Amino acid sequence: MLTRDGDFNIRRAENAERHDPIQSDCGCATCASYSRGYLRHLVVTGELSAHRLLTIHNLHFTLQLLRDARLAIAAGTFSEFRAGVNERRAFSDIERGS
Ligand SMILES: [Zn+2]
Repeated sequence: MLTRDGDFNIRRAENAERHDPIQSDCGCATCASYSRGYLRHLVVTGELSAHRLLTIHNLHFTLQLLRDARLAIAAGTFSEFRAGVNERRAFSDIERGS
């Protein structure tokens, strides 16, 4: 899963009891209605709806990131924007290999 604070694998056991959304300040339909624990349950039990719900979030995140990048380019602050994104996303569990 893609988030402002780094990517993570929804299958990880630590998500099983989580009642919060994938990203608390996300405006997508998935984050508005489903917890990490429920989404993990859908994934590990093979529910096909999991793919749709997780894709809704990841596309929303990617489109918002691109909107923010365009605004930073227009404002002449893209270097600062890029540094901030990289700093926030530095602790991704995907990049750590777990
Ligand atoms: Zn979301």
